[in-house]
Amino acid sequence: MRILLHICCGPCAIVPVKWLKAAGHEVVGLFTNPNIHPAAEYVRRRETLKAFQDRLGIEVIYKDTDYDPVIWLRAVAFREANRCFHCYQIRLERTRGIAKTGGFEAFTSTLLYSKRQKHEVIAALGRDIAGGGRPEFFYQDFREGWREGIETSKAWGMYRQDWCGCLLSEVERRNNIIL
Ligand code: SF4
Repeated sequence: MRILLHICCGPCAIVPVKWLKAAGHEVVGLFTNPNIHPAAEYVRRRETLKAFQDRLGIEVIYKDTDYDPVIWLRAVAFREANRCFHCYQIRLERTRGIAKTGGFEAFTSTLLYSKRQKHEVIAALGRDIAGGGRPEFFYQDFREGWREGIETSKAWGMYRQDWCGCLLSEVERRNNIIL
């Protein structure tokens, strides 16, 4: 299958790319993440992926024009308690749209690698967005490679952020420092 893989960050891409390629799929990455705050952090994650994409052995589409925090802010405003759903939705819908335009057979996301994400929500959302048509949503539980991904990213010397991406997630991560 020719699969468009939404990539949230370099470290989370290691296992999905490795496993998908090992299974014989053709993988192209897509970096579209308007959730990342601040802009300097967006650039840092993007540049980390760029620096390692040859090692991963994939082409990556960088949709910097999608980096409009207003899109994310409007999607989650007054829905903060359920913000991750809307954050996933923005990125998966965008990935599905580009996959369709690009003639991919399927789309998926490195969000399915993280043990810190709402895995079942992402899986259900991906299937809903695909709607049973083409491109289909490719589901795999990449969390089984959680430890492998961490160890590889450390061995490679990749930048590894310690919060999910948005301002709210950073505040939650640092509450014990701020409060
Ligand atoms: S915590 Fe992560 S997934 Fe949830 S809204 Fe923030 S950036 Fe998006």
